[in-house]
Amino acid sequence: AKAAGRNTYRFFCPSMQEVLDQMAMLENDLRHALVRHELRLHYQPIVRADGSLSGVEALMRWQHPQRGMVYPAEFIGQAEKAGLIVEFGQWALTTACEQLAAWAHDPQTAHLSISVNVSARQFRQPDFAQCVLEILERTGADAHRLKLELTESMLLTDLDALIARMAMLKETGLGFSLDDFGTGYSSLSYLKKLPLDQLKIDRSFVQDMLQTPHAGAIVQTIVSLARGLGLDVVAEGVETSEQWAALRQLGCTGLQGYLFGKPAPVEQLRWGSLMGAHN
Ligand code: C2E
Ligand code: CA
Ligand code: CA
Ligand code: CA
Repeated sequence: AKAAGRNTYRFFCPSMQEVLDQMAMLENDLRHALVRHELRLHYQPIVRADGSLSGVEALMRWQHPQRGMVYPAEFIGQAEKAGLIVEFGQWALTTACEQLAAWAHDPQTAHLSISVNVSARQFRQPDFAQCVLEILERTGADAHRLKLELTESMLLTDLDALIARMAMLKETGLGFSLDDFGTGYSSLSYLKKLPLDQLKIDRSFVQDMLQTPHAGAIVQTIVSLARGLGLDVVAEGVETSEQWAALRQLGCTGLQGYLFGKPAPVEQLRWGSLMGAHN
């Protein structure tokens, strides 16, 4: 293609219309993804400070028949716009709970928890709590092993209704985690009102924590804030053993990142402790 000269540039610069056509095609395919059984959950290890496995985060993938594996960045936004995210989210919750129920039979896996991402739109559905109760009952999953990851964008509307819903769901035994903490509209006043169990420090802070003093200070502040409020704190995007050591020293209770394992199909999960040490 290079030999054809500079005119081939056009090939790599599709017109706006082509881009729009592509997106419409993708959205059309997305509408069928669920019934065609093309959605997958990959699981990424979450470890304790000492590196032992405490659970996993469920991350959605779309196995497209032609394009291959499609990642959330390319379809979650589209699914939100197309109104599909609620159904996709219910599917993820159901699949994760089925996995928990299956793990409960094996002493090697029975203690593991699964964290599931819940979109704002999904959480705001009037029947969300009812759906979760039904899924727990139908799958037989132990709610104490389930964590729902919420984002700060959810907290912008009707905080009282949100808190009431969270409190009701917590009666089942499940936990709540506030995802991507520090990137949204954090207000410290709601932190003490919300019935949370965990904060997750966004990857962007962890990535820079040893290079830029500001990022390091933010990580340190989030960890002590979480501990002061009696919450677990999980650092995302841990890629180096230096970051691990620093986070452990700060008192981080959980760690997640490529150092300990990338998201993978359930068959590829390993159960040993100190996973990072073997990578
Ligand atoms: P998230 O919830 O913040 O998930 C963490 C993302 O960071 C994942 O990207 C994961 O693969 C990536 N990651 C983990 N460790 C590392 C690391 O060490 N280095 C780097 N560079 N990246 C790391 P992924 O799987 O592409 O998911 C992206 C986002 O899509 C998620 O961000 C979440 O917001 C959304 N998402 C994924 N699954 C679901 C789902 O089932 N429902 C909803 N509503 N959103 C989902
Ligand atoms: Ca998450
Ligand atoms: Ca996150
Ligand atoms: Ca993120």
